[in-house]
Amino acid sequence: MTTTPTTRDDCAERDAADPLARFRDEFALPDGIVYLDGNSLGALPRATPGRVADVVEREWGRHLVASWNDAGWWDKPRTLGAALAPLVGAGADEVVVGDGTSANLFKTLVAALRLNPGRRVVVGEEGNFPTDLYITQGVVELFEGASTRLVGEDDAGLAAALEPGDVAVVLLSQVDYRTGALRDMAAATELAHAHGALVVWDLCHSVGALPIALSEAGADFAVGCTYKYLNAGPGAPAFTYVARRHHATARQPLTGWHGHAEPFGFTGEYVPAPGASRFLSGSQPLVAAAALEASLDIWARVDMAGVRAKSLAMTDLFLELTAGTGLEPVTPAEHARRGSQVSLRHPDGYPIVRALAERGVIGDFRAPDVLRFGFTPLYLRYVDVYDAAAALVDVLKTGEWREPRFDVRAQVT
Ligand SMILES: *Cc1c(COP(=O)(O)O)cnc(C)c1O
Repeated sequence: MTTTPTTRDDCAERDAADPLARFRDEFALPDGIVYLDGNSLGALPRATPGRVADVVEREWGRHLVASWNDAGWWDKPRTLGAALAPLVGAGADEVVVGDGTSANLFKTLVAALRLNPGRRVVVGEEGNFPTDLYITQGVVELFEGASTRLVGEDDAGLAAALEPGDVAVVLLSQVDYRTGALRDMAAATELAHAHGALVVWDLCHSVGALPIALSEAGADFAVGCTYKYLNAGPGAPAFTYVARRHHATARQPLTGWHGHAEPFGFTGEYVPAPGASRFLSGSQPLVAAAALEASLDIWARVDMAGVRAKSLAMTDLFLELTAGTGLEPVTPAEHARRGSQVSLRHPDGYPIVRALAERGVIGDFRAPDVLRFGFTPLYLRYVDVYDAAAALVDVLKTGEWREPRFDVRAQVT
C-alpha cells in the first residue's frame, strides 16, 4: 500500500464526517487562531460567562447567604465531583472538587503514607511536572525517615524501585506533561499493589483527553486539574479521587471544617466526614466553580471513546505532516502509549514557538527543548491541524524564527 500525503481537502472531508464537530460551536474561539494549547489552558465555553454571571448576580447578589442551601453551594464539591466522576471512571461518591492540584497532591500523599505505616519511601517520576516533585519533597520532609525514589517512564524502572518492599506510595502522572507519553494505569497500579504500595495518579494531562478507568484499575487516589482539557478556566478548582475502600480510614492532614463529619456542630474536635468529603478543607471559590459546572455540562454529552479516536487521528495527522522537518518527535508513536499531545524536540524550540504564535498557531514550549502541541477534539478541526502543521513547516523553511525578537522570554512560556 502506498500512502499519499494528506491534503487540506482530505481534512475538510474528515471534518464534515466528524461526530464531534458540533461541539466546536459551543466554544468562543478567537478568529484567526489555531489553538493547540488547550492542554495548558482550555478554551472558553460560550455558556460559561452567563453561568458565572448568574452565580454572581442572582445567587450571590439577590439571594445572598441563602444560596448556601438553596443554590446548593455547600454541596458543590460533591455535586461537581459526581458530575466529573464518569470522566475518570469513578463512582459518584469517590470524587470531590476543591482546592488546587498541588494542595490535593499534598493531602493524598500524606493520607497514603499514613495508610501504609512502616514504609517510608515515596516513589515519584524524575520527569514529572515540577509541582509533583516539589510537593513530594515537602511531604517527605514531614515524615521522619522518609525518602523519595525517582523512576523513569518505563514499568521496568518502576518494578525495580518497588523491589526492596519499602515503598509506601507511588505518585505517577498518567500522561507525561512534557513528552505526552501515556502510562498503562491498570498495569502500573497492579505492579505497585503487588509490592504493597499505594498509588496516587495525577490526571492533569489525561482528564478530558482520553477515557480513564480509575475504579477498574484499582487506583487508590487520584488528583487532577480542571483548567486544561476540561476547559473550566484559569485557577478552576481541582478534584480528588478517593477509592471507596479507603473512605473510612484515609486521613488527610488539612483537617478543616468542610471535611468534618458535622461541620455545623461547631464542636472543638475534628472528626472526619465519612467518604471522600473528608478530603475537603475549607470554603471553595464558588464563582470559579460555576465555570467548572458550565464546562461539565458539555462533557456530560460527550462520548469519550469518540474523543480518544479523534485525538489519536489528529496527533497521527500532525506527526505525518511535520515529519521530515528535522524536529524530533518525543511523543510515542504507539497509540497505546500516547496522550493527546505531540511534543517535538528542537534546540531552538522557544523562538520557533513564538514565531508560530505570531502566525496565529498557539502551542507552547517546555524547557529545555520541547515544542508542545495539545489536541483538543471538542473544538479543533482536522483543517486546523493541517494549517498548524503547514505553518510550522513554513516557519522552519523560511527560518523566520531566527529574528531576535522571537527569543525574548516571557514570564510564562
Ligand atoms: C498542570 C499540572 C499541575 C498543576 O498544578 P496546580 O496546583 O494546578 O498549579 C500539577 N501536576 C501536573 C502533572 C500538571 O500537569
